[in-house]
Amino acid sequence: MALTMTACGPKAGKIFNEEWNTPYGTAPFSQITEADYVPAIKAGIEAQKAEVRAIVNNPDAPTFENTIAAYELSGELLAKVSGVFFNLSESDSTPEMQKIEEEITPLVTAASDEIFMDDAFFARVKAVYDNMDGLDREQQMVVKKLYDRFVLNGVALDEAGKARFAEINSRLATLSQKFGQNLLAENNAFKEAIGVTVSAYPDFMTTCEDRALREKAFKAYSSRCNNGGEHDNNAIVLEIMKLRTEKANLLGYKTSAEYLLADKMAGDPATVDAFLQPIMDASMRKAKEEIADMEAIAGHKIEPWDWFYYAEKVRALKYDLDESLTKPYFTADSVSKGVFYAAEKVYGIHVEPAPEVEVYNPVAKAYKLTDADGSLLGIFYQDWFTRDTKRGGAWMNNFRDQYVKDGVDIRPVIVNVCNFPPATEEVPSMLSIDNVQTAFHEFGHALHGFLTKCRYAEVSGTGVTRDFVEMFSQFNENFAFEPEILAVYAKDYRTGETIPAELVEKIGKSLKFNQGFTTGELCAASILDMKWHELTAEELEKFTDAQSIRDFETKVCGEMGLIDEIIPRYRTTYFNHIFNSGYSAGYYSYLWSEVLDVDAWEKFKADGVFNPATAKAFRETFLERGGSEEPMTLFRSFRGADPDPAALLRSRGLE
Ligand SMILES: [Zn+2]
Repeated sequence: MALTMTACGPKAGKIFNEEWNTPYGTAPFSQITEADYVPAIKAGIEAQKAEVRAIVNNPDAPTFENTIAAYELSGELLAKVSGVFFNLSESDSTPEMQKIEEEITPLVTAASDEIFMDDAFFARVKAVYDNMDGLDREQQMVVKKLYDRFVLNGVALDEAGKARFAEINSRLATLSQKFGQNLLAENNAFKEAIGVTVSAYPDFMTTCEDRALREKAFKAYSSRCNNGGEHDNNAIVLEIMKLRTEKANLLGYKTSAEYLLADKMAGDPATVDAFLQPIMDASMRKAKEEIADMEAIAGHKIEPWDWFYYAEKVRALKYDLDESLTKPYFTADSVSKGVFYAAEKVYGIHVEPAPEVEVYNPVAKAYKLTDADGSLLGIFYQDWFTRDTKRGGAWMNNFRDQYVKDGVDIRPVIVNVCNFPPATEEVPSMLSIDNVQTAFHEFGHALHGFLTKCRYAEVSGTGVTRDFVEMFSQFNENFAFEPEILAVYAKDYRTGETIPAELVEKIGKSLKFNQGFTTGELCAASILDMKWHELTAEELEKFTDAQSIRDFETKVCGEMGLIDEIIPRYRTTYFNHIFNSGYSAGYYSYLWSEVLDVDAWEKFKADGVFNPATAKAFRETFLERGGSEEPMTLFRSFRGADPDPAALLRSRGLE
């Protein structure tokens, strides 16, 4: 970002008001300064307020067009600023950006609350909702989504209730942000102490021969934001949980899990709990076998800091697969090529570099996606490499959503952000097998965003419930190690030689390896998330300090049957997904969506992975339709049956 702050004169923020005469209307990043954000956000909020006022004051009787469609087209300026700001505040989270975020977030939260607590506006939306007969399916889904948002945002509360609800939302937004900022600080502290980034932790634990150092790394990793001091997240977690529960209570739900699941595919906490526990049981059965294999090699008891290291030894022994042998075939450049090639081959689209499009960071790259007929699908930024100002993990996001305005199809601008190891002076960036899956995963989300053919941003692209959205990212992972795709992209950067068939076979087999651990830590985090959100207000009152949080984790892990050698993938104080992202009472979404993905993939396998008719049906049924139909209806129409939960255990080798 611009390092020089320009003066906050009357011009600040104006760049967002101007039409961007840039290729595809993408953001002119070099012309945006940090001083622009706050004034532009404020102007965007005011503009949308006026637009909503006009809808509410319309003397005509409410119709879909004059109320719902009109709302869908409101807030364009705010979306334009937010698209840039909230992406950059995650991928280039400098101290200046963090300060701006602290100022902006409460403003945006309050503005949204004002809209979704407005009785007069709700009365119009409800009038449309109560009479949806003449509407098509996409319109009905948009109405339903907006209606639910009003209800779940407390529109039915009395004035005092609304005021409290809004106050809670604002405080929650600030707390989440603080949680994320603390985590970023402690991730950087981890790097200082151990010498590797948090993203490189699994790799480090796999290869570090010094057991005492592994123990030190494990303890540092698993106690992030749990050490007292200025970046401790315990008090923040407790306040977040109490406020979330109070919000749920205000709306008549007993727990925040009930509230948060009300509009999701799973529907209620009991359904999620009943879904997760059998997966946990199967994982732990497998994990115990994995421990026996590792102890036979180690000659001592396996501690949590031994798992990655000895699992790799077992893998080398059982599958004769050593990641140091696969990595030269998976440079960032080759994997990027593979990700694009798979999408081109399966969906008949085209991806090409777009050097004319400006990027926000010199390491990010811009691409243009077009359909088979040459029409534009959208613009893609690929921002793969780790840096100190980037939040951990990997994600996809939109800078601009897809929607139709005045008959013009506005195409999306999408980013994939990852934390892959950058190149060094000696070697190019080389990805682990896990990284390769992540690259395909995030581009799966991107495809969901690019192939969409909706009219309203509310439901276009990834505008679906989060326990459905991961289906498409995880589905795309399936192509990563298909021999036909590998043959195109997996080439040794030193020799240009294609990955040998026997190594491909070994990778295929090894993907089911260590699934007791991998599934177990994922499932444990999913259950921990649920248990936090299933607490009642009275139960939460009993928590007093950091120790009570640790005791709760221990109790929950014991009850789910997690063995001592494994900890949840995220512990409470660094569980960013549920305390600073949209996955509260929602981390189960990965496993839930995987059932759908695996079941759909079984059809691809049966029909032939590159069967054009199957890919076309998948694209038309799911990817083009976003949230314009109920997920289960779409699934049944593609598969002709309900999803089979056992498909997940089969694919992970846990039966
Ligand atoms: Zn995802």
